[in-house]
Amino acid sequence: HLQNVGFIGLGNMGSRMANNLIKAGFRLTVHDLNSDVLEMFSQMGVPTKKTPYEVSEASDVVITMLPNSAHVIDVYTGPNGLLHGGKLLRPWLLLDSSTIDPETSRNLSATVSNYILKEKKGDWEKPFKLDAPVSGSVTAAEAGTLTFMAAKICNNLALAVSMLGISEALALGQSLGVSARTLTNIFNCSSARCWSSDAYNPVPGLMEGVPSSRDYNGGFASKLMAKDLNLAVESAKLAGCKYPLTSQAQKIYTELCSVGHEAKDFSCAFHHYYSGMDE
Ligand code: NAD
Repeated sequence: HLQNVGFIGLGNMGSRMANNLIKAGFRLTVHDLNSDVLEMFSQMGVPTKKTPYEVSEASDVVITMLPNSAHVIDVYTGPNGLLHGGKLLRPWLLLDSSTIDPETSRNLSATVSNYILKEKKGDWEKPFKLDAPVSGSVTAAEAGTLTFMAAKICNNLALAVSMLGISEALALGQSLGVSARTLTNIFNCSSARCWSSDAYNPVPGLMEGVPSSRDYNGGFASKLMAKDLNLAVESAKLAGCKYPLTSQAQKIYTELCSVGHEAKDFSCAFHHYYSGMDE
């Protein structure tokens, strides 16, 4: 039943996830606003569509991998969106892998549950919309090792704080005369070890294949991290939780975006904020 898969949002993550689905033998139909990326898929022989609705018409399952809530709302409910065209849908499963706020996600699931399947037209045959955000970098998206989960906002809160903590510790250590490489080797075999130190180190040149080694390009954009921290702050307020570190991290990422680093990988906090080496 899974052969015809629609994929919308072919950015850093989505393009790699879509490639893996193609490799695994699924028949893909894709859409993105970026015509360059559509051209790339078209040259690989993948059918491309101009609107989400056309993707929906061609697919049993549709996956979305978009930047934030507004884009997901647009792709679902905008003109020529996935839900355009009344109360009948072809896809039986709509899977949103974008990291968005829980309320938008719930609202869209409720909206989809008012639809029925086009081919069946039975009251009980409703399409499903699942919230399936992912954890892992673009490397994991390429390797097919992403973790699909709930709780994404909490994960990224912890990630932002650990990246900033590692960056601050590396900056201090270097100022005290210890090289970033030595510090990293020490962290990685002691209690400071974490993903930000041993898999996604923020110091340029220390690790291969991570954004810090390609001028912080092509990873998880600072503006997306700022968005997730905003979501975490809103969720903490609603839940009545304290959030001192989230709030500090939110301030740092908001500042990074406002000085022009919004498209750079979030590990650029080390370079631009802590190491004092700003252009
Ligand atoms: P990205 O900005 O690289 O890609 C988003 C793509 O969506 C772009 O190609 C853009 O053109 C397209 N798009 C935007 N609006 C659209 C619309 N209305 N219709 C069709 N296409 C549209 O973002 P990304 O890094 O791939 O991240 C996508 C999601 O995954 C975000 O919610 C992010 O928080 C989450 N995420 C990212 C990473 C990472 O390491 N990059 C890791 C885990 C989760």
